[in-house]
Amino acid sequence: MNLIETRPIGETYFNHFAVDFSDTNIRLNGKQYPAGKVTHEIFCLSPEWVKTLFYKGDALYELCLRWSGEGYSVELFSEIQNSLFDILDYVKDVPPFCHFDTDGEYAALNRFFCKGALQSYEDAFRKCGTVFYDQLPRENRLRAHMTAFSWIAFSYIYLAGDTLNFLSVANVYFVNLTENDKRTKHELAELAREMFGDPEITKKIEQSNHAEAFNNFTLHPTVEYAPVIMTTESGSVLGKRIMFNRMLNFYITDMFAGLAAGHYSRQCGICHRFFFMQTAHKQLYCSTVNPEYGVPCAYVAKNKLNMPKQKKKDGFGYAIWKKRYDSLRNEKHKTNKNLPSAKYDVDVCDKAIELAKRHYEEAQIDFDYAQNQYEQDMILRNLINEAKEALGKK
Ligand SMILES: [Zn+2]
Repeated sequence: MNLIETRPIGETYFNHFAVDFSDTNIRLNGKQYPAGKVTHEIFCLSPEWVKTLFYKGDALYELCLRWSGEGYSVELFSEIQNSLFDILDYVKDVPPFCHFDTDGEYAALNRFFCKGALQSYEDAFRKCGTVFYDQLPRENRLRAHMTAFSWIAFSYIYLAGDTLNFLSVANVYFVNLTENDKRTKHELAELAREMFGDPEITKKIEQSNHAEAFNNFTLHPTVEYAPVIMTTESGSVLGKRIMFNRMLNFYITDMFAGLAAGHYSRQCGICHRFFFMQTAHKQLYCSTVNPEYGVPCAYVAKNKLNMPKQKKKDGFGYAIWKKRYDSLRNEKHKTNKNLPSAKYDVDVCDKAIELAKRHYEEAQIDFDYAQNQYEQDMILRNLINEAKEALGKK
């Protein structure tokens, strides 16, 4: 008898995975993240990347439609195989997907597509006199195998479609949140009721769905959960281990768990990217370096009144950086041309250029560093020595 979930990690497959939720954190594949962080990571994906993922899922969906229309064939399944691995390769290093057990996911696909497998499935179908797995006898092993595989294939289709749909819906919520400056837990909840409880808005969401094939943007509240104990910095807490069979259900659960904990994504008023808030602190701008200005957005905003056009070249120590960058490029050129005056290897020059850029960026954020250390670090000889050390060269 099991009254509580005791395995530290539950199932981790895309088509069947367990995520633990406490009041403020989630635990996925053994690691803890603040609730709402996965939602935020989806915001950090580029729209182009998400669209490409969507089209990959759509291509797989077309193949699966052919599978149900034409039945099994080695040719069709090699295409399905390529399509599945293509999607997995595409997402495996990218948050939030990299938090899953992607090695286990590869292993699951490799088990189905192991060497000679496609031909052996073909032979097994031929023996039964059909190419449709749902026409195989109920107790048939191939039927069970193909059914389990269809769940895998559909979890990839869902992953692709759900990510795009979720991104567009959550976007409506968090843009609205930013515009109306909602921050407290009560405000977050009220805004959720206003938006997702409004039939007009849900109708709009339905219409903006990218594909009906994905059964629309609807939470299927068929999730199962078990009590689980999670260890946090302040000790053990009781949580829920929730079983999911579709990404969308997880995304929505994470988003609302985050809102309940007072975590939210907010759009930066300067660069319009989203940043993640976990405190009551009233941050308006993100703290990442703004590519246009070369300084963090918060700094851009602070200085906007008196220097509205602070461009990269107006940053602290720009002249030093530019001069050093040009001289390193020149050194590299001499080495490339085998000139007698060449002194440094190309990889040393490249590393030194990289380090110079890093020092310049640091000088924009850290004013102590800018005043006391920056100039010293940017001396050619020091950069070359630092580069050599980083590369393990003498
Ligand atoms: Zn920003």
